[in-house]
Amino acid sequence: MPDTLRDLIEELALANRILAHEGVLDAFGHVSVRHPADPGRFFLARSRSPLLVEPADILEYTLDSEPVRPAKVRLYAERVIHGCIYQARSDVMAVCHHHAAAVLPFCVAGKPIVPVFHVGATIGAEIPFWDQHDEFGDTDLLVVKPEEGRSLARALGQHSVVLMKRHGATVVGGGLKELVSRSIFLCQNAEYQLRAHLLGAPTPLHPGEITLAGALNLKPSVVDRTWEYWRLRLAAAGGSPPRAGAAKAGRRGKRRGKR
Ligand SMILES: [Zn+2]
Repeated sequence: MPDTLRDLIEELALANRILAHEGVLDAFGHVSVRHPADPGRFFLARSRSPLLVEPADILEYTLDSEPVRPAKVRLYAERVIHGCIYQARSDVMAVCHHHAAAVLPFCVAGKPIVPVFHVGATIGAEIPFWDQHDEFGDTDLLVVKPEEGRSLARALGQHSVVLMKRHGATVVGGGLKELVSRSIFLCQNAEYQLRAHLLGAPTPLHPGEITLAGALNLKPSVVDRTWEYWRLRLAAAGGSPPRAGAAKAGRRGKRRGKR
């Protein structure tokens, strides 16, 4: 866990960019983190493509998914996904909603994703499906109403991932690094599972393997190592976010320079 809120907000901006750079998030999708000292609040960016998110874009929300302070910026339409899951799951500290290309074939076909390789164990033994149409009929498929968010949270239950029919996936974690790790390994697992079908029916991990490998993959030493790897890949591509307050400091410096 970062030392200060400023560090946490920088980490959230970085998580946005890592998940975009690794192909989990695209122009859409979002990632949030619960306030470490106030479980009734969470942090989420203003409506912006995740690859562009900076610390200055991060807003604080109540669990009703409304900003704590009035905001003039555009907000994510699907922010109720985050608030409703934080309401339902006190153990969840971070949430990612995405429409990753790797998982969409499963969302469209209604076929389950199961852990098929050791690191894939982090997704858990079972991933439930949620079909918005079952409860709400024809919609634009965006999860925007609190009752839709609550329905999704019910479908997630105590699992780590829920697949959303014809839409995408929502992933939860006990912290940002764990969430980023699970989100990326979900996509890798989906790709391997689909490709393995070309060779024959893939065999999922045994239940005991899922428990043991899943716990191993959540160790701080492991999530720190993967986080560092993805962070450096992003930096090498020139995509690191500025530090919190860097834009303001830059502007102040320019103003001072003009005087
Ligand atoms: Zn969505």
